[in-house]
Amino acid sequence: MITSYFRPRTLDEALALAARADAVVLGGGTGVNAQPGRAPVVAVDLQALDLDGIRADAGRLRLGATTRLQSIVDSGHVPEVLRELARLEAPSTIRNAATVGGTIGMADPESPLLTGLLAFGARVGLARVGSNAEHPLDAVLDDRHLLQGSIITSVTVPMGGRAAAHGTARTPMDAPIVMVVACRDADGTVRIAASGVASRPVLVDPQRLGELAPPADFRGSSAYRAHLAAVLTARALASLGGGEPA
Ligand SMILES: Cc1cc2nc3c(=O)[nH]c(=O)nc-3n(C[C@H](O)[C@H](O)[C@H](O)COP(=O)(O)OP(=O)(O)OC[C@H]3O[C@@H](n4cnc5c(N)ncnc54)[C@H](O)[C@@H]3O)c2cc1C
Repeated sequence: MITSYFRPRTLDEALALAARADAVVLGGGTGVNAQPGRAPVVAVDLQALDLDGIRADAGRLRLGATTRLQSIVDSGHVPEVLRELARLEAPSTIRNAATVGGTIGMADPESPLLTGLLAFGARVGLARVGSNAEHPLDAVLDDRHLLQGSIITSVTVPMGGRAAAHGTARTPMDAPIVMVVACRDADGTVRIAASGVASRPVLVDPQRLGELAPPADFRGSSAYRAHLAAVLTARALASLGGGEPA
């Protein structure tokens, strides 16, 4: 239950508010409002901070934390694969409010965009009172304490590589049961990320897929998901061969 609402105009002001134990940072608010809790919280709305915008510079793409998912879909700077994964994230009504920072904050286990950002080797800019740091997205998803009292300011990915995404879902617009995204950087580094095989999107080693123990649900058993992970990884790697950048 939101008992107070703040819309700070500077990052310092926002960080001081976010450091409170009862603070909840608001990006688009679509996740926070969909899961209201009973405890009283103070909402710290980031929309006046000018943290949005997409910039391609020196071989890197920088997404401001409050960039809307629909802006990613519409951007000519964003690699085609990431644009499509942002489109798959949620319906257009939600995409026009939801932000990339909030998507990281939610850490949905089946998030297509997070899976793509992991494969692209995304780094997350995190600010807290007195410090600014960049962390690999994988570390932010792994250690949720990093977000306590912090504000995500940006997400940065390297440009100029190739990427491919393959997923299996019950319908084209349904959340994928398993999604695999493979990315080869301009320097030849290959990263593969998968959703639907663990409690969050994870980086996977194609040689060690047999060690995965995916969760089961009504859409697929653990064995079915493990099989999908192997098939979709092979397809994604095959798609990386030759051709135009992603
Ligand atoms: C109808 C509906 C359908 C949805 N469908 C999907 C779906 O298919 N897939 C999916 O993954 N999600 C879905 N969601 C959940 C949610 O909309 C998305 O996860 C969305 O991307 C969250 O973005 P947001 O900016 O609205 O986050 P918010 O609600 O603003 O925030 C989400 C979390 O992140 C934190 N946070 C936000 N911004 C920052 C920041 N800059 N720094 C630090 N912490 C921050 C918040 O404190 C909160 O814990 C759906 C929600 C609704 C209502």
